[in-house]
Amino acid sequence: MIDLRRYADREHLLLASYAMHSRDTEGRVHPEPPHAYRGPFGRDRDRILHSSAFRRLSGKMQVFTGEMGTYHRTRLTHTFEVASVARTIARVLRLNEDLTEALALLHDIGHPPFGHCGEDVLSECMAEVGGFSHNQFALTIVEQLEQRYHAFSGLNLSAETLAGQDTRAHKSEAAIGRAPLLEVQIVDLADSIAYDAHDVDDALQMGLLSVESLMQLGIIQRAMDRVRQKSSESTGRLTRISADPSKMEILGNPMRQLLVHELIDLQVSDLLKNSLEQLQVAEGMSADQVRDAGIRVGHSDEVMRERIELEQFLFDAVYRHPRLMPVRESAADRVATLFSALKAAPMRLPMRFRRRAETMPFVRVIGEYIAGMTDGFCDQQFENLSQSSHGPLADW
Ligand code: MG
Repeated sequence: MIDLRRYADREHLLLASYAMHSRDTEGRVHPEPPHAYRGPFGRDRDRILHSSAFRRLSGKMQVFTGEMGTYHRTRLTHTFEVASVARTIARVLRLNEDLTEALALLHDIGHPPFGHCGEDVLSECMAEVGGFSHNQFALTIVEQLEQRYHAFSGLNLSAETLAGQDTRAHKSEAAIGRAPLLEVQIVDLADSIAYDAHDVDDALQMGLLSVESLMQLGIIQRAMDRVRQKSSESTGRLTRISADPSKMEILGNPMRQLLVHELIDLQVSDLLKNSLEQLQVAEGMSADQVRDAGIRVGHSDEVMRERIELEQFLFDAVYRHPRLMPVRESAADRVATLFSALKAAPMRLPMRFRRRAETMPFVRVIGEYIAGMTDGFCDQQFENLSQSSHGPLADW
């Protein structure tokens, strides 16, 4: 008798054969009894959400820093946008939404302060131990650094959640032809849909880009066509349509937000249509069989081409914008200075990290300490270090 209060029954009824079903999980390193009403991946999601590293995402920049205003995305709001897009895709493809959400909330948890420039500089400082990878560091956080349980370090997440993040850290499975779980694949796709769209939004809002300059891109033209079509269908709320598309406004809704909405919607719609076709051959297969068969879902060729064009444009016009470069360079300098000061005086590391250095090189431990910081906390420790010549810095 099916009981919809039981997660296993709900999954049996709702999920596709090729979804990752909770009943097939390989479990946790430290075995735990099942929960009365939460499935293993729902519990993983909650553990990540309640972790201290997750909360710190609110203080980490995505692309733009706090010096550039307060409107734009932080790594926390980016993470929620990824989770939202990924959950929608998971639901339509009948994949495991709890696992999808857990993976989305986890995916950026290992990012150091100051976005990609922070990662680049840490990686240079840590060259002798193989550099730094935020995907790998996310695993270190949830397996070792988070302290929530008496019996063990880390969050004791399910094997599939850890393996999904591990796939992001080592994209090596492609080499042996095995594909990641479909839930892992769609989180990757949702990540890039979300950041392309919100970087367009933030850059327009900050005046780093104009709608006119974006109109050279195929995907923007198509999104704009959808905006125009919907505007002409709706009457009453439309205030004015100018010949110049960037000047068109709808009451209380600037063009920018309509454009970004359509940009996400057309990519998700394309992805769903294409994926449903790609998954026809997988009907009746298990999650494992789909992986062995190397089945991958993705965008249509046309949208894939347009996305590459958009990303190239954003790289040149936004990420290398003259207003952004000095901010990034100065942040990179502070991270590098903090790193070399700690390397010269490792006794200034907080106690927890000095203990970690008993089992691993100082260079790795210093990198972990800095990588866990928010942008603001990193600046504070930089100040503390320059103002006083002794005593350990603060733990996060
Ligand atoms: Mg991301």
